[in-house]
Amino acid sequence: MYKFVQLGNKFYPQWDVTCGDCGSKMVLVTGDSIDRTLMYRCSRPECRCIHAAFPNGKPVGTPADQNTRSLRCVLHRILDPLWKDRHISRNRLYKRLAKRLGMSEEDCHVGKFNAKQCTKAIQVARRLSEDLQSQ
Ligand SMILES: [Zn+2]
Repeated sequence: MYKFVQLGNKFYPQWDVTCGDCGSKMVLVTGDSIDRTLMYRCSRPECRCIHAAFPNGKPVGTPADQNTRSLRCVLHRILDPLWKDRHISRNRLYKRLAKRLGMSEEDCHVGKFNAKQCTKAIQVARRLSEDLQSQ
């Protein structure tokens, strides 16, 4: 279910998305990046959890249990600073992640990962993070 929210001068459907980390409601926002990508952000300010959204506002990815959602959050907390702090472009980061995980770039979206894939991706992401930040 969704209701329409106004962002800038446009209206978007905001779907019911629950934060995988703290269980709070997530709200649709435009991101800080240059392209102003739509995303869901936890309504609790201390919680930095985000969830990807399609350009039409629909949340990306398959519904996940609490455990998987928490793991996805952990993964985002490792990956997001890498491209936000410009250690690497977002595109290249996901390309490298996909390669190291042995999956296609189309499948390499945190929102699509199950718990097992998240656990593996977290290990890979930690190594990538160490590599990039020591450069
Ligand atoms: Zn949260």
